[in-house]
Amino acid sequence: MKKDIHPEFKKTTASCACGNVLEVGSTKENIKVEICAKCHPFFTGKQKLVDTAGRIDRFRKKYAGFDTLATAQK
Ligand SMILES: [Zn+2]
Repeated sequence: MKKDIHPEFKKTTASCACGNVLEVGSTKENIKVEICAKCHPFFTGKQKLVDTAGRIDRFRKKYAGFDTLATAQK
């Protein structure tokens, strides 16, 4: 390794907006993240509001009667 060009790698914490705090190794300190494996819907399997500008609501409204319509046509 070359001297004096590598940032120091140290242990620090990454805190998430959900309150989860992880210990990580990084060259930065006290990292803040908005979403982590504890609260991301992909890992929790739950639906959570990561809704951008009500897109989910609009989608639900648009396809509200879709199920009943589809079964009625069969
Ligand atoms: Zn989180």
